[in-house]
Amino acid sequence: MPAMLLDGKKLAGDVRAGLGPRIAALAARGVVPGLAVLLVGEDPASVSYVTAKEKACSELGMNSFERRLPADCSEGDIVRVVREFNADPAVHGILVQLPLPKGISESRVIEEISPEKDVDGFTPVNIGRMVIGDPCFLPCTPHGVIKLIEVSGIKTAGAHAVVVGRSNIVGKPLANLLTRKSINATVTVCHTGTRDLAEHTRRADILIACAGAPELIKADMVKPGACVIDVGVNRVDDATKAKGWRLVGDVDFRAVSEIAGSITPVPGGVGPMTITMLLYNTVESAERAAR
Ligand code: NAP
Repeated sequence: MPAMLLDGKKLAGDVRAGLGPRIAALAARGVVPGLAVLLVGEDPASVSYVTAKEKACSELGMNSFERRLPADCSEGDIVRVVREFNADPAVHGILVQLPLPKGISESRVIEEISPEKDVDGFTPVNIGRMVIGDPCFLPCTPHGVIKLIEVSGIKTAGAHAVVVGRSNIVGKPLANLLTRKSINATVTVCHTGTRDLAEHTRRADILIACAGAPELIKADMVKPGACVIDVGVNRVDDATKAKGWRLVGDVDFRAVSEIAGSITPVPGGVGPMTITMLLYNTVESAERAAR
């Protein structure tokens, strides 16, 4: 039987609808939540992510402030813009679009973002708070994944979750959130050093693929009935498309959906949730600033 589709687009719409009254309440007090975006260089994928985030802000009546710097700018130029955003009371959230050009230290730049405006949840302060379980901005993609799992009624307590990927922005925070008492999963984290990936993935009640490897997860790597969350977004060549490429996830969607109990599509799964949780964090930041 084909798997239940976990519809990130619909859930994102529901979460955004819930933000509407909160934004209206802020507006009544003269506050418009503002997201400041810094884009360095002209990487086409980064440009399209930034455009999507700004469009989402304007659809909800939020402000977005965009600054662009050339790819050959210095780390000092980037830090100066971040500091301007930190000091601007109209800015409640700061997003530095990654990746930054070679030669620029991403961690040095991220550390400059005020933790109170770090709506991506990338600063060491926010990551530390997340690990301890203190109030913080959760990183948007892991937060979106957790919401998708929770809302879909997937049982997490006592479940074995396998996370394929250990990046600072997706895999590691996801693994951490899954071990929270409120979720109570037992977590295995896989990476390129994992000896037999399939042996681990086949034991997953909840399998989360965040490797950036097109269709890495095949049907014979999935336990029947498992919940499969595909975070991957990969461009693969496709001569039948006008653009010459198409998007695929880290999961062989067609085959795996015959085995899994539930599955996210790409696109339309985790992606819309990521942007939505960024808006969510920005509204939260504006509310905190208005208190
Ligand atoms: P990343 O920084 O490149 O990390 C990838 C991780 O996967 C690494 O830990 C790597 O292991 C592991 N990995 C790669 N190939 C593997 C393999 N064959 N077997 C086992 N592990 C493997 O990527 P990321 O930033 O976390 O992003 C991951 C994917 O999610 C990308 O496709 C990205 O585009 C997508 N993404 C989507 C959203 C969204 O909103 N939908 C948001 C963010 C990212 P090592 O540590 O050993 O190298």
